[in-house]
Formats: sequence, structure tokens, C-alpha cells
Amino acid sequence: MFLKQYTSNILSTTVLLLCCGMPPSLPAVPIPVHGHFTFDGNEFAARDFGNQLHSLPWAVLHPKKVSDVASTIKHVWHMGPASAMTLAARGHGHSLLGQAQAPHGIVINMESLRGEMQVIKGKSPYVDAPAGELWINVLHHCLKHGLAPKSWTDYLHLTVGGTLSNAGISGQAFRHGPQISNVHQLEVITGKGEVVVCSEEKNADLFHGVLGGLGQFGIITRARISLEPAPKQVKWIRVVYSDFSTFARDQERLISAEKTFDYIEGLVIVNRTGLINNWRSSFDPQDPDQANQFVSDGRTLFCLELTKNFNPAEEAHVDKEIKSLLSELSYIPSTLFVTQVSYVEFLDRVHAAELKLRSKGLWDLPHPWLNILIPRSKIHTFADGVFGNILTDTNNGPVLIYPVNKSKWDNRTSFVTPDEDMFYLVAFLPHAAESEGPQKLLNQNRRILNFCDSAQLGVKQYLPHYKTQEEWRAHFGQRWEIFAQRKSAYDPLAILAPGQNIFQKSISIL
Ligand SMILES: Cc1cc2nc3c(=O)[nH]c(=O)nc-3n(C[C@H](O)[C@H](O)[C@H](O)COP(=O)(O)OP(=O)(O)OC[C@H]3O[C@@H](n4cnc5c(N)ncnc54)[C@H](O)[C@@H]3O)c2cc1C
Repeated sequence: MFLKQYTSNILSTTVLLLCCGMPPSLPAVPIPVHGHFTFDGNEFAARDFGNQLHSLPWAVLHPKKVSDVASTIKHVWHMGPASAMTLAARGHGHSLLGQAQAPHGIVINMESLRGEMQVIKGKSPYVDAPAGELWINVLHHCLKHGLAPKSWTDYLHLTVGGTLSNAGISGQAFRHGPQISNVHQLEVITGKGEVVVCSEEKNADLFHGVLGGLGQFGIITRARISLEPAPKQVKWIRVVYSDFSTFARDQERLISAEKTFDYIEGLVIVNRTGLINNWRSSFDPQDPDQANQFVSDGRTLFCLELTKNFNPAEEAHVDKEIKSLLSELSYIPSTLFVTQVSYVEFLDRVHAAELKLRSKGLWDLPHPWLNILIPRSKIHTFADGVFGNILTDTNNGPVLIYPVNKSKWDNRTSFVTPDEDMFYLVAFLPHAAESEGPQKLLNQNRRILNFCDSAQLGVKQYLPHYKTQEEWRAHFGQRWEIFAQRKSAYDPLAILAPGQNIFQKSISIL
């Protein structure tokens, strides 16, 4: 069996070398992998959640061991700058615009590297997880030990390596920082095929570079993620505001307070009915009739979303705490909607909505999403210019808005934030109706970005897709130099993550 597998890999390798136009004088060295390459049926690797850009790779590697990834990268590294071959790690392919694609290159299917997870209990508990593992599986595994990661994304069917390459932001980030602030150690394979274990203490530059590094400096194969005791239940609360200033003041007060909720987000609702339920959530309040009667009547409303975690014995105490916290807020009094779910149900809430959308054929539509980080001092200008003006309804999908504390972000990572101590994440998350296509929404995104530029709001995009290196330079600002230096140190041939469109193979990177 091994021999057969090995032989088929030698064949794969030979084809690889020929297709890359290798000089015939170079020997066709086989890549010794325990997994396998596929050359047909790779359409899945040309797709992503955004469903707008599709580039077929030349091959897909389905690694079985970390050494498969290392050998393949090393092989491409040894092909040198004359070869155009590139490599992209693909997590769950939930990028928006081809970031995990490798046109005519090799896509590494990280999900086939899922494997054992190890939880270490004690004073500072952690889990060692393969980077190709989905966060939902990390959660279930940790729960067996009564523990859970601290910082999340709204949707858990994303891989550990995929979100750590970006940031991983959700309603817990105000307290714990993004997911990239909750990692102790990484195992990374650089663009030269070297396997490096890195942390704050060891190979710190690579560690910080890879976090939020858009896959540019290495492929993460394992991550050590910080854990905390897992609660069993969640009180899940929504309240509504008609005035943005009051809404923002309450949100900011809540994320700054010592005693506060465990999760704080918000939604903008423009010109829609059926206020409470939307595609990204399975929120089902105790009084759904009242909730469904609540209509926005063409107005712009702001819905504050909060949770408090608890274990059954603490319920009475938690109810009292919630009452006290809510009493300080200035929402419309008749709009308090509460529900109670298990911790897993809450964290996996978007998946419940996904299943509903899938059944209606609405999950695989194009998603022209736009995520922007806005300095706190400019959020009112942004809200005035965009909500109810450029954005005239939210019927195609939710618009999230919530502030986070910059002190919880580590500025040694590759991630760039706006310059102020507090900034907002505003996420426009529509799907394009089949009848309309994405153009109208893309135009709206452009108008929003133009508004930010002309009003000089000092925003940064999250999960951006730029077409030129000039735009990337502007995105990174003063941090560009260090980003480019890291590229030349860890992936000098620009082999990795070509779909991000930051560096091109064989082109000078400094
Ligand atoms: C429904 C939905 C909800 C979302 N909610 C949130 C949210 O609440 N908060 C948030 O922050 N984001 C959110 N995202 C965005 C999400 O974090 C990113 O799209 C992320 O890249 C998806 O992870 P993935 O595993 O699918 O990665 P992919 O899309 O497969 O990869 C993303 C990038 O990372 C690179 N990469 C992947 N794996 C590795 C690895 N192991 N090592 C190095 N590079 C790698 C790829 O080459 C690519 O450039 C959401 C996305 C969707 C579709």
C-alpha cells in the first residue's frame, strides 16, 4: 500500500516538474508525502465563500503529516525564482475574494491535516490544535475538559489557521482581544520549507509576523490556544435604540466597565421588518410575538446584543447582575428581548442560520462583504454619512457594529488597527440576490469607502482585497516596512498565499 502510494506520488512529482517548465537537466526529485496530490476534481479549491473570484489551482495537496507540507514547500523553494509555482494554504475556504486560492499553483488542503488535540489543564490551561481544525471541533474537544477558548469569531466553521492569519474578532474581543491575542505558541512552516516552533520567547519575530500575517510568512500547522473554564449557559439579550449617539455611548460604557457583559456586539437595522431574526443568528426570544411585531418603519435603528455566561447554580445571581447592568442603559424600554441557550448553541449560532439558508439555496450566493475598522472619534461622522444615506436598507444581510479596546491588541503582530485607543468594527455582510448579482452591493461598498476617504476618517479595512501593492502599502502605513522585511526573511521567493495579491513571485519585494 505504501509502495503504491509512494509510486503515485513520484508520478505526481514528475508531472509537477514538467508542468513547471523545469530545465530537463534538473532531476525529477519525488516529494516524499504520506498524503496525496490531486490534479482533477479540484474545483472546490477554486471557490470560496465570497463566490466572486474563481481560480483553479494546478494541483491540490491533501497532506497527512506536517512533513508533507514542509516537503512540498521545500520542493517549490528549490525550484527557485525562475518557476512561477506558488502555494496557498486553504483552511475552510471562507475567504471573500480568492485569498486562499493559488492560480495555477498548489493549494494545500489544511483540513486533511486535522488530528489529535491535546488539552493541558492547570493555572494557565491551553489546547494544542492542528491549524486545519475547525473552531467548532476545538470547542467540543475542550468542553470535554470543562474548558473553552476565550476569544471567538461569530461563526465557528472556520479553521484555526485561517482566522489566526487574519485576526478573529467577535463580541469577546473588547475583553480578551482578538483570537491572535490568545495564542501562546505556533508551529509554522516558512516559505523555505523550514519547520519552526515560535512564541513570544522563541523566534518571536516569526510568531508575531504570522499572527494576522495573511499567510505571507509561513503556513501554521499547529497552534497553542489559551483556555478558560467553560460556562454551561448563556443569557442572550437584545435591546433597541433609535438614536445612534445613545447606542454608541452605552456600548462604549459597557466595554470600558470592569463589571460588564461577556459578549457585546450591535446591529444596524435600516428600513426592514421582522426586526429580531436575521440570517446570521438563531436568536429566538422568549416573547417572539412581541419581537416580530417590532418594525423599523423605515427608520434606522440600532440593536445592542449582549450575553452573560453562567452555570445553573449562579442563575439568580446573574439575573440580578443583568438587571443592574441594564438599568444603566438608555434603550427603548419596550424593546428588551431575552433568551437563554447553552454556551455551545450561542457560540454556534450562525451555523443554525447557515443550515436554514442552505436549505433555501441562499448560502452559496456571492457575498460582497465589507469590514471596516473606524476610530472612535470618527464613528459619528461615519454613522451620519452612511446609515440611512448610503445604506438605505439592510434586507440583504446584517450590518454589525461594535467597539473594541485597542489595549487588547498586540501591535507587534502583523495586524494593523486605527490609531485610537478604541475603535469600531463595522461589518456589512450581505448576500447578492440571484436576480440582481453583486454589482449594486459592490457599488455601495465603493461609495462607503469613498466617503471614508473624503471625510478622512482614518479607517482600516479588515479582510481586505487590494489589487496593487501601493494599496497594501497604504493599508499597512508605517508597518509596511516591517511587513516587507518579514516577507524577505521568511518567504523570500514570495511562494506563499498569492491570492492575497501583496507580493508577486520573482518580483523584488523591498
Ligand atoms: C459566515 C462567516 C462568518 C465570519 N465571521 C467572522 C467573525 O465573526 N470574525 C472574524 O474575524 N472573521 C469572520 N469571518 C472571516 C473569517 O475569519 C476569514 O474569512 C477566515 O479567513 C476564514 O477562515 P478559513 O479557515 O476559511 O480560511 P481560508 O479562507 O481558507 O484562508 C484565509 C487566508 O489564510 C490563509 N491560511 C489558511 N490557513 C492557513 C494556515 N494554516 N497557515 C497560514 N495561512 C493560512 C489562506 O491562504 C488565506 O490567505 C467570517 C467568515 C464567514 C464566511
